[in-house]
Parts: sequence; structure tokens; C-alpha cells
Amino acid sequence: MRKETASTCPYCGVGCGVIIESEAGEICGVRGDPAHPANRGRLCSKGQTLHLTATPLIRRTQRLLQPAWRPSRAEPPQALDWPTMNQRLAERLAALHAQHGPQAFGLYISGQLLSEDYHAFNKFARGVLGTNNIDSNSRLCMSSAVAGYKQSLGADAPPTCYEDLDLADCILITGANPAWAHPILFRRLEAARQRRPEQKLIVVDPRRTETAELADLHLQILPGTDVILCHGLLHACIWEGWLDARFIAEHTQGFAELKNLVRELPPPEAARLCGIKEADLLQAARWFAQSPASLSLYCQGLNQSSSGTAKNSALINLHLACGQIARPGAGPFSLTGQPNAMGGREVGGMATLLPGHRDPGSAQDRAEVAALWGQAELPEAPAKTAVEMFEAAARGEIKVLWIACTNPAQSMPDQALVRRALARCELVILQEAFADTATAAFADVLLPAASWGEKEGTVTNSERCISRVRAAIAPPGEARADWRIVRDVGLALLPLLKSGPGPALLAAATPEALWLEHRAATAGRDLDISGLSYALLDSLGPQQWPFPAGASQGQARLYQDRRFATADGRARFIAQPYQPPHDRLDARYPLALTSGRLREQWHGMSRSGLVPRLFGHTAQPALHMHAQDLHSRGLRTGELARISSRHGELILPVLADASLRPAQAYLPMHWGEEFVSGQEAEAAPFSGVNALSNRAFCPSSQQPELKFAAVQVQAAQLP
Ligand code: SF4
Repeated sequence: MRKETASTCPYCGVGCGVIIESEAGEICGVRGDPAHPANRGRLCSKGQTLHLTATPLIRRTQRLLQPAWRPSRAEPPQALDWPTMNQRLAERLAALHAQHGPQAFGLYISGQLLSEDYHAFNKFARGVLGTNNIDSNSRLCMSSAVAGYKQSLGADAPPTCYEDLDLADCILITGANPAWAHPILFRRLEAARQRRPEQKLIVVDPRRTETAELADLHLQILPGTDVILCHGLLHACIWEGWLDARFIAEHTQGFAELKNLVRELPPPEAARLCGIKEADLLQAARWFAQSPASLSLYCQGLNQSSSGTAKNSALINLHLACGQIARPGAGPFSLTGQPNAMGGREVGGMATLLPGHRDPGSAQDRAEVAALWGQAELPEAPAKTAVEMFEAAARGEIKVLWIACTNPAQSMPDQALVRRALARCELVILQEAFADTATAAFADVLLPAASWGEKEGTVTNSERCISRVRAAIAPPGEARADWRIVRDVGLALLPLLKSGPGPALLAAATPEALWLEHRAATAGRDLDISGLSYALLDSLGPQQWPFPAGASQGQARLYQDRRFATADGRARFIAQPYQPPHDRLDARYPLALTSGRLREQWHGMSRSGLVPRLFGHTAQPALHMHAQDLHSRGLRTGELARISSRHGELILPVLADASLRPAQAYLPMHWGEEFVSGQEAEAAPFSGVNALSNRAFCPSSQQPELKFAAVQVQAAQLP
């Protein structure tokens, strides 16, 4: 008999609801959930084909099905049953813990995990192992947005909601291409513009993307000049008298310092440095400041930068100065990339966070979490964030890496270093659903994880909306829920450690029990969900936080009383001068390379790459360049070129692309080394964009600069 299960799409941070259709223990269809507030029944091409990533054939042939241990990295993995694996792994971890201590361990997890999984990993790292070295691939995605919100508004909380797309009179999209990366939000934007043709859309992007095609005004800035643009816009607003002086006086601090800083960037100079027309900059400033309600949407283009936090702050400054915040349709709205990047922030499963938006650098916050977990204390030693963790492993300081639900051998910057790090570790544990990721080749231990449609828990989307994720079918083979894998190893490990917590720390034995522990950590905090429960999520549907005790529904917008989350309730202007990207353009590396997403693919394609029809628009990677740059190198579309940076090189076909300006290049980020074969692979061993990227990161957010690399392109001379 056919069964229907309401769940959530596992791809992007829009967080669309899906109805999974299953029969005889297999998924046979999917459709949009008309009751889910994020999508009201719509799905994009990735969501519509989710069932094709979980066919019986794929579940049998493309998945990790059994726990396995590789005797050496040159040998094939040998299957073990779970009790044997848990005991053997616990013994190995205990021996390495005794030999090297807790700081030799690193856990690198994922924004694809559910909040319950994140919580289980957090307890394992900080509670059982005694290390703060737990970070998530969300570090690569939204950590600059976290730091930006905290610095400016006092808490990591987007103050806006999806309904604001319908209500805004002016929308500024910067560093984001929702037409491809957040398609259902983009459709909502298109519908809003049809209903309200007077709504202004400004898109800031070095490329003329499909999102930019919809815009009333496209500011095609030079890569990396976002802070200059925001300062120039603010200068124009000051000069023209478009500020909200009363809002600045009553609800903010620090405007005088910022005013001094932007004094040096009058619109003609800012426009020149950004490579745009002064008139366009002034038009954008006018629309943004003078519209009744202005909303900004932003994502990786701001975040993935060595000055990512400064870019976020510069944009929020503009909102504060113009009073475009804390009202329906107005505010800075950071879009999350992954389905549960937000949940990981709430649960504190990252190096720079603790549960309930607490800070691991605060003794009081550590003590509060220790009390919640029944521990004497939490580790105090500073944590290593994602890039720092792999740097430490490459130096031989981190000996054990436990990687869950992510593929750093493709997605981390500076692949040469990442691969050295993985090779040098004494123990690499990979907890994964899919069998053939690039990271699997480096793993000593393979732990098969349940995937979409097979697990229970919750996720939180870009607008702080918590949705249930439900299992429609059982996982294949011996695959298990992520929280259970790490908990069972933890229970086997506890008796083997010289000192450590009692088993009560790991007592929670269901997703709901784990979620209730997480809920307890939010009480009295800005993200308080004390009034919410699994039962209420079932009866009311998805809910936005905060949802304190006694509430009857979640809160759509924050700070409507104009009290921000700082100690004095005032938002802060952040005066940060412009810093150029870390990689410098010069005669040897004259092209600015940026990376981005395709509408039909997701991350390293371990899931979306299983669906042939998703390759219909783009079947293979190509380096996009302006025709003039191809011509000057004697290249034509389709020919192979050697692309080199200061960090590595690869060989790919080139493609003339009129959406780019001269001296720029663009490469989709989805492909890895499996794509290039034979002679080409020998010439360029790592074929993904991260062969070229550098690992410089923002000092405030530790988010690496995945959006900018200086490269040279030459016709390939294959050996
Ligand atoms: Fe899934 Fe995102 Fe598409 Fe919605 S927009 S169906 S969440 S990939």
C-alpha cells in the first residue's frame, strides 16, 4: 500500500516541505508539500527529482551499506558488524586519546546533518573526547553572516522572513544568485514583482546572472569590492540627506566613526573603484534609502571572503543608517546555503559556538552548558575551525579526523594541503551515506549513514523556521542514523577513557530525546523554543523561533520593538575599512576567478549527480571567460586550457561567456577529480575548483575565501 510521509528537502536552505511517496519499503515519488510555508507545494528541479536519488538500485549500489575498516590505505575495506566496529573503534580512539590527548582529535561535520545529529556530535566532541575541535562545513557557507549579525545586532538571528520578499518595496540582492541557488525563493520574488511592478530590484554581482537579468538595476562590480560599494552608497545617503537620523540617534551606536570612514569614498571614487557608473550607484542609494521598506538578500558572494564579516557589517550599516530594519519588508536577510546550517548554529555544533547561541570563550556560557549536560566542566582550550583543523592535521598535530556527511577532499580550499592532511592522519573516520566520495579514498574507517527519507529529526531554514524531517523507509543494509552512530561509539568509548563523563551524558536514545536536550539549552535565550515540541511541530506545522513557553506560534520578525540583542539594546555601526582579496592579481596571475552553483546541482554532486536529467543543461564543467580573454590566448570554446593559480592547477575546457567582464573567470564548484580521466587527469591531479583556491580566511569568522583566486589560463599542452 502506498504511504505518504511529510518531510523536508535535503538540498538548500530554503527548506521546502516535501511529501515522500513510498511503497513496499521503497521511495517511489515526491511532490511539494502544499502545507509547508516555505514553498506551498512548489519544488525546484532538484527537489522534484529527489525520489530518483533513492531508487532501489541506487540504494543498493551507490550507498555505503556496511561498517568497514581498511587494514591499510592501499587495501580494500573489510566489512565488520556494528558491535565489532563500535568496540574496535572505541579501543583505537581510547589508545590515541591516551597517547596524544584530546587536542589531537578533530571532528568535521556538516550542515546536511539534522539538529539532533549535530547535538550528538557536540556532546561526543566536547563531553566525551574533551575537545572543542568540532566544526562544520557550514564554516565554508555562512560563518561570516553569523559574525556579522552578532557584531551589529548582538545575536546570530536573521531578523526577517520569507514574507518580507512580498512586502519589500526595494530588494537589494548582493553576493547571491537565488535564481539558481535558492530557486523557490526566486519564484516567490518573480511572483511578487508581477503583483507589484513598482517594487525595485537591485542586483550586485560581478556576473550577469539569471537573477541579475530580472533586476531593474544590475551593479556589475569588480570582484571583492563589496565593502567599497556599501561605503559609497552610505556616503551618498549622508550627502543627500537620506538617512534616518532619528533611528540612528535612538537605536544605534558608533555612527560618527563610520561617517568618518566613508567620508573618503564619495560616489565618484567608489563607483570608479567598483568599476560601475556613478549614476547607477546613486540610483541604488536612492531606491534603497527612500523606499518605504528595503530588504537585502545575501549569501556566499559576501560570506566566502577573507573580509566576509566586514562585507556583512557594511551592508547592515546601510540598513541601520537608513532605518531599513525591524519593520515588515525591511532588514538584512542572510540566506543559508545548506538545509540545516541554521540548526547547527542553534545547537552550537561549531568551533566558535556552544548550544543556545553561547560562546565557548565565555566561562559562564561553558559552565551553563556543562550544567545542562551534567558535566563538571567543558573544555576551555581554543578550538580549531575548519581550515585550521586541516592545517593542524597537515602539521601532524591533529592525528584523528572524524568526518561526517561532507566531502573535504573536494570542497575544502587548497586541496593540496587538505590531501596532505588526510594522508598524514593516523586515523580518518568517514561517516557517509554515499560510497564514492573523494574523501572515502583517505578513510581508514567507513561508517554507513542513513540518508534523506530514512531518518527522523528537525532542520531550521533561512528564516529561522524549524521543520520536521521524517523517515518514510528504513535505511539500506546496515546504515544507521548519524546521531546513533556517534552515540554508540561514545558509549563503547566511555569506559575505556582514563577520565571522562558518565554514560548519563549519552542517555538520550531517540531523536526526540536529543531534541529536548537541545530545547533545554535555549530557555531564556534569544532563540528560546521552550514552548515548542515535536507534537506541536506535528500539529501546527513548521514554526519559527523564538517560540517561548506559552507562545501559540513562532515569531516571523525580530526586533520590532527596536531593541536589539546587545546589552544596551542598541545596534552597532561597524567601521571596517576595505581590504582587498588575499590573492593579488598581477602579470603572472591576471584573471579573477570566482566559483558558483548551477541550478540543477548540489555541492559535490554525491546526491544530485545520481540523476541523469539534472545534467540536461550542463553536462560537464568548463571555465567561463570573456571572449576577448579567450581570443588573446588563442583559445576557442571547447578547447582545453591549463588553469593555474599560486596554489595548484587543473585542465578543463573553456567557454566564452558574455555574462563576465574581461579579466574575470568563473567555474561551477560541483565537479571534483572523478570528472577528468586519462591523459588530462595525469596532467592535473585535482580537477575541482579547489585545486586553485587559497585557504586565506576572514579573521572574524574564519570563513575561507572560496570566491576569489588569481589565475592564469593558457592553452593546454598535454604530455
Ligand atoms: Fe529543495 Fe531548495 Fe529546491 Fe526547495 S529550493 S526544492 S529546498 S533545493
